Amino acid sequence: MSYASALEAARAIKEGETTSQKLTQAAFDAINQTDQDVSAYVSLLKEEALEQATRVDARIKSGECRSPLAGVPIGIKDNLNLKGSKTTCSSKMLENFVSPYTATAVQKVIDADLIPVGKLNMDEFAMGSSTENSAFFTTKNPWNLDCVPGGSSGGSAATVASNQVLLSLGSDTGGSIRQPAAFCGVVGFKPTYGRVSRYGLVAFASSLDQIGPFSRTIEDTAHVLSIICGHDAHDSTSLQMDVPDFSTACMGDVKGLKIAVPEELFGEAIDEGVRQRVQDSLDLFVEQGASYDIVSMTSFNAALASYYIIAPAEASANLARFDGVRYTHRSSDGETLKEMIVASRGEAFGEEVKRRIMVGTFALSSGYYDAFYVKAQKARTVMRREFDRIFSDYDVVLSPTTPSVAFPFGAKEDPMQMYLNDSATIPANMAGLPAVSLPCGFSDGMPVGLQLVGKPCDEAMLIKMGYAFQQQTDFHKRDAEGFSR
Ligand code: GLN
Repeated sequence: MSYASALEAARAIKEGETTSQKLTQAAFDAINQTDQDVSAYVSLLKEEALEQATRVDARIKSGECRSPLAGVPIGIKDNLNLKGSKTTCSSKMLENFVSPYTATAVQKVIDADLIPVGKLNMDEFAMGSSTENSAFFTTKNPWNLDCVPGGSSGGSAATVASNQVLLSLGSDTGGSIRQPAAFCGVVGFKPTYGRVSRYGLVAFASSLDQIGPFSRTIEDTAHVLSIICGHDAHDSTSLQMDVPDFSTACMGDVKGLKIAVPEELFGEAIDEGVRQRVQDSLDLFVEQGASYDIVSMTSFNAALASYYIIAPAEASANLARFDGVRYTHRSSDGETLKEMIVASRGEAFGEEVKRRIMVGTFALSSGYYDAFYVKAQKARTVMRREFDRIFSDYDVVLSPTTPSVAFPFGAKEDPMQMYLNDSATIPANMAGLPAVSLPCGFSDGMPVGLQLVGKPCDEAMLIKMGYAFQQQTDFHKRDAEGFSR
């Protein structure tokens, strides 16, 4: 990709400097060249993409296309359905599953004349923080191929960071967009719960899941958000709200804005290099006229524990449908229906998925329900109230996205160590709030992510601050060695 942003690429198409066909072909050439190393894609949609690009080129020529991103290639996480193509969730369970319908968010990007080029690798059923839980292969971090790209949307982050494409979609239940974005040095945005329809997203934990974009610039993210947000009758939790043109937030300055920095996410648990880059970013905002206070948000201390009750509880219910009877892997073992179901699930689910199902069913079982599930829901309420309290005085909550930079493969074999990756990202999911991770520098040669969490439906504030930040920094413009445009 020889363009610095999707917006620039779209402009070049509009002005006749290139075509969607050429850009789409270039994306496949880049994937061809670099995906042996990066392994971002589970499947490619080459024929469909090139055909669609031809149609879009014709529409652009005849002046029918008004989308600001028309003709630009985009990658799709493999838990989003696209009719006629495989949606595997990087699981053996769905290895051969062909989607009978298209997710609303995916349909919206197609309707806006973007070109889906392929489906991206992920942790199985979006459970994990490194993409090591994919049943197929591990995706590599373009900044250091011995390190994980983060997860669960590791493929979505790596494809943008390696310049195969300029845009992708992922999903975020406890940090799966922001954490890999931080590890790979790109922008990752989780909208307010309900902003983007979840119809056609394979459910992990329905009260936490949200779809969102990856990009190099916050402006590109703003445009993708305007495309994918909006009410959808197919999702009863989708918000009945107008969708603003988020790109209009890409202007102005941060003068007078008040930033809260929770001490719980800025102390000893954070690596010094990461802390330093986030402090630099804070100093930059202050130079631009914002102010900040270190605040206490003690409920964050319960975030991880309560998330790892609620998310597995919901997952155990959602994953009950994968039974070998209808559209999933079916074992040839077992004499009875029950034996067949047990064998199918035993064979096709990976270790982490099984762990979550066991924890979830345990937490929901009678006798333990009040002690675990109800208690976790109470902690969630306290977290929400704490955000409300902070937001009555501040515009945004700022912290590192992750406690450390990307780690080597195999470094977090203890699940608890892996879970700790999400300590800073989970609170926004628990409270349903919009949150973004922005590239804010490097530590030991690896990208560091800066997280901003906003008030409900105040995506615009995050975009405005992200824009001001990117005007003053060039971290988002740097390429990983060997992956330049
Ligand atoms: N890493 C977290 C988990 O394993 C979050 C995953 C996600 O956001 N999908 O549950």
